[in-house]
Amino acid sequence: MRVTEKYAIDKAHECARVFRTVDPAHPGVRMVMDQPAVNLAGPVKVLSQGGFPETYGDLFMTPAQTRKLFDSFGWTRIAAFQTRNPMHRSHEYLAKIAIEVCDGVLVHSLLGALKPGDIPAEVRTKAIAALAKNYFVPSTIVQAGYPLDMRYAGPREALLHALFRQNYGCSHLIVGRDHAGVGSYYGPFEAHHIFDEIPADALETQPLTIDVAFWCYKCGGMASGRTCPHGDADRLQVSGTQLRKSLSEGAQVPPEFSRPEVVEILRAYYASIEPPVKAAA
Ligand SMILES: [Zn+2]
Repeated sequence: MRVTEKYAIDKAHECARVFRTVDPAHPGVRMVMDQPAVNLAGPVKVLSQGGFPETYGDLFMTPAQTRKLFDSFGWTRIAAFQTRNPMHRSHEYLAKIAIEVCDGVLVHSLLGALKPGDIPAEVRTKAIAALAKNYFVPSTIVQAGYPLDMRYAGPREALLHALFRQNYGCSHLIVGRDHAGVGSYYGPFEAHHIFDEIPADALETQPLTIDVAFWCYKCGGMASGRTCPHGDADRLQVSGTQLRKSLSEGAQVPPEFSRPEVVEILRAYYASIEPPVKAAA
């Protein structure tokens, strides 16, 4: 980059506008507050791809590559599904709702920095590939990764995610409950409503807004807050902590929560990083 400008930013103003809070406990606010005082600007001559193509091979696709691929399939309605997690039944359900109304889905895995305890990208993409192979029509799903660090800006980040997917050639972005949220900084549907608050022609990529999904025993299938009239007692809920515990201890994970092919890959991963709990006794 040829530096043509140096400037300082009003961090509190940026945080209030982007994150809707200046609370230093918010990870995005902290990221901004930790930035050095001066920003540099100017024309960029060489843009690094940060080693991602070397690390991730075919999984790393540029916007030009995904657009070309969609053209070759004859797809015009493509929904992006962004994920930082392996896909369980609820994620599968969201992707399939999108496939019902679009030509296909782009499962777009984050390759940026992770929080401790997150599943590494290579394990996650292997689990997603197993799910796609066994439970999706091959001509309806593409898996790719892209480099992005989460900022946890909730609704504003949902707009950013939609804009990125516009570049990748996606007509829609699946926006779930509390998309890109953290803690309780944002309401569960703020990331849905913000798309109605911007000018109608501001984005080509439109949101596919879907409530949180789960298996309901009374419904006898996958459902969401919009389609299931039952209560928590009838719905299968597995927290991230419970899931990690079950996977690392070899306990059963209900097939209504996660496909056995996915569970098997995650179990092998946990076995490789943690000594069996019983061996400690
Ligand atoms: Zn139900």
